[in-house]
Amino acid sequence: MLSSPTLLPSAADVVVVGAGIVGLAHAFEAHRQGRSVVVLDRDARPAGASIRNFGHACVTAQPESLRDLARSSREGWLTMSRRTGIPVDEAGAVVLAGDRADLDVLEAFAAARPGDATLLDRSDLDDELAGLAGEQLRGGLRLRHDLRVDPRTTAPRLAGWLEAAGVPICWRHNVIGVQADSIGTRVDTNRGTIRAEQVVLCSGHDLDHLFPAVADEHRVERCSLQMTRLAAPGPQVRPALLTATSVLRYGAFGEVADLAPLRRHLESTAPGLLAAQANLMLTQLPDGTLLVGDSHDYAATPEPFLSAAVEHQLHTALARLLKTAALPVLERWQGVYASSPATDVLDVEPWPGLRVITVTSGVGMTLSFGLARRTFPRP
Ligand SMILES: Cc1cc2nc3c(=O)[nH]c(=O)nc-3n(C[C@H](O)[C@H](O)[C@H](O)COP(=O)(O)OP(=O)(O)OC[C@H]3O[C@@H](n4cnc5c(N)ncnc54)[C@H](O)[C@@H]3O)c2cc1C
Repeated sequence: MLSSPTLLPSAADVVVVGAGIVGLAHAFEAHRQGRSVVVLDRDARPAGASIRNFGHACVTAQPESLRDLARSSREGWLTMSRRTGIPVDEAGAVVLAGDRADLDVLEAFAAARPGDATLLDRSDLDDELAGLAGEQLRGGLRLRHDLRVDPRTTAPRLAGWLEAAGVPICWRHNVIGVQADSIGTRVDTNRGTIRAEQVVLCSGHDLDHLFPAVADEHRVERCSLQMTRLAAPGPQVRPALLTATSVLRYGAFGEVADLAPLRRHLESTAPGLLAAQANLMLTQLPDGTLLVGDSHDYAATPEPFLSAAVEHQLHTALARLLKTAALPVLERWQGVYASSPATDVLDVEPWPGLRVITVTSGVGMTLSFGLARRTFPRP
């Protein structure tokens, strides 16, 4: 049976709407500064993008425009981990290369950013992947600053830590209106009203439900992604594993190399992956099972049906990367995040006392704590 949700207080210094990682990071930073904080979420527990992803903070390969924010976020993640005991692994990431076209870009990156990345030869890869590296792999690139967390437990544990620290998390409170009033900002929910000096709206991809004009102005739509969890292959691999398709997606690579030859190469060797707008990558959960994804489809309303063909493309490509027997699929799911062709991060202040923050480039895990530190800078 459902327990009654936490009673909604009538006021707080800060109200955060959304208990995904962006909202919880904001609640954590505001609480650290001694502000009274209340978090509202329409669901009974975190169930959005923040638990459906890879648990990979891709700090190293962010483009110049996001690099400082990503680095600040890295510090924020590590501080949060020290204070809460929630594990954050400084495991980095490894980009796997099977062809000359991939290696050319990785070599250019290592030459341009020697403090951030190290080239790996075939025997390094064997060590990094604990013997799982497929025969076709020729080398790779270690991205030093990336972090790994368990996406399934991190947001729920952070919500639990905040509650224990005295921050009410009001689950099953659907926010239906946010308005300026004489004493701050008023937030109406399906279970009552709360007022705050400052409201931070972190409702992820459903921004248009509350602020359609803001969403329209910034051309925010939804990106839906297909994911699977595969049975444990045996050895434990700590870093996130990225591939040539990741190189096309993460902005920093295009800043140091011409990506056209790699794109042409993939058009001839992996057209299905390009058609699915895939970023083939994987991470491992603490139980050893593998999170494998992902495809990208952009629309105002996501296609509700998962495609067997897209999954086949991802798994066929994966089989060439790992030296392992076919791994049974344990779970399949769709993730959705906010996306915009106009901006990587939407961070606007419709009026003093209301901040609307949505990551619109698929890197909300990476940037969450950086955004929170920007909203609530240390005095
Ligand atoms: C498959 C997949 C893979 C990804 N991989 C990565 C990755 O490797 N690295 C990376 O950095 N990022 C990745 N991302 C992106 C990242 O997961 C998101 O950018 C991030 O989780 C967004 O966090 P959020 O808190 O804004 O959204 P969410 O986690 O979706 O949380 C939003 C919350 O707001 C609540 N809410 C919405 N509307 C209301 C309302 N009206 N009232 C009350 N509550 C409301 C929802 O219930 C939800 O709990 C991935 C995303 C997906 C889907």
